[in-house]
Amino acid sequence: MLTITDLVKEYPTGLRALHGVSLTVDKPQVVAIIGPSGAGKSTLIRCVNRLVEPTSGSIALDGVDITKLGRGALRKARRRMGMIFQEYNLVERLTVMENLLSGRLGYVGFWRSFRRKYPAADVQAAYALLDRVGLKGYENTRADSISGGQRQRVGIGRALMQQPDLLLVDEPTASLDPKTSRQIMRIIVELAHERGTPTLLNIHDVPLAQNYADRVIGLAAGRIVFDGGPDELNETVLTEIYGEEDWSTTVGGGDDDGDDDRPGGSDDLEKAAAAG
Ligand code: ADP
Repeated sequence: MLTITDLVKEYPTGLRALHGVSLTVDKPQVVAIIGPSGAGKSTLIRCVNRLVEPTSGSIALDGVDITKLGRGALRKARRRMGMIFQEYNLVERLTVMENLLSGRLGYVGFWRSFRRKYPAADVQAAYALLDRVGLKGYENTRADSISGGQRQRVGIGRALMQQPDLLLVDEPTASLDPKTSRQIMRIIVELAHERGTPTLLNIHDVPLAQNYADRVIGLAAGRIVFDGGPDELNETVLTEIYGEEDWSTTVGGGDDDGDDDRPGGSDDLEKAAAAG
C-alpha cells in the first residue's frame, strides 16, 4: 500500500526536518505519528501528498512513486489521498453539503462542479456520510456557522467523499476540547476501519494515540525512534520520544469512558501531561 523509503526533507532555510525516514503501511490500519513539537510529524504527512516537496527518498503508493510524478499525474494521485486538516480548510461561505461534495471535485470536472451539478450517486453518498459523521439535518447550514467539532466532521466527510486509498490526517484535534477530540478521533478511526482505508495520522496527544491507533510511530528530531503497538508505549519508550518527563499520569491512563470530561478533570490532566 504505502512504502516510504529514506525520506529526507530539508527546508530552504537549511533545516533538515526528516533524516531518512522509512516506513511501510501494508494493511488497513490507523497509524498514529507522535512526537514533540518540531519532530517533523506534519512534514512527514505532507510529503506523502507533496504539499511539502521531499528533498530525496521515495514514497510509493500501491507501487507508484509519488515523488516522481509530474503535475497532471500528481493531481490524479492526490484524488486517491484524502486529507483531514487541523484547521478544517472548509469553504466557509458554502453549505455543509457543498463542502462535502467538494471532495468529488477531482473527479467531476470543473464545469460540472462550477454549476454544482454533481452526479446523483455522489449526492447520495454525501447524504450517507453526512448521517455517518453525525450531521444529519445540517446539509444547508453554512460552514461558518457551525462549531469546530462539527466543522471537523465536515472535513472528515469531505475527505471520505474522495473514496481515498489512503487517509492523511494532520493534527485533527489540535483546535478542539478534550471531549470533542475523542469524538472526532473515534469517528476517524471507525470510518477508516469500516472502509478499510489505511490512515496516517499526526497527533501530539499521547493518550489519544494510545486509545485509538492500531500502531504508533514515534518521531524525534526527524527520525523514527519507535514503531509498535499502542500497548507498548511505556515510560522508557515515551522518554526516548519526548525526553525526560513524568509519564506516570499518561501511560495507560487514557480512559475513554467519557466520565471525566469536566474542565480540569483527569482527562485534562492527562492531556496536560502529554503536552508537557
Ligand atoms: P511537527 O509537526 O512535529 O511539529 P513540523 O513538521 O511542523 O514538526 O516541523 C519540523 C521542523 O521543520 C521544525 O523545526 C519546523 O520549524 C521546520 N519547518 C516546518 N515547516 C517549515 C518551513 N516551511 N520552512 C522552514 N522550516 C520549516
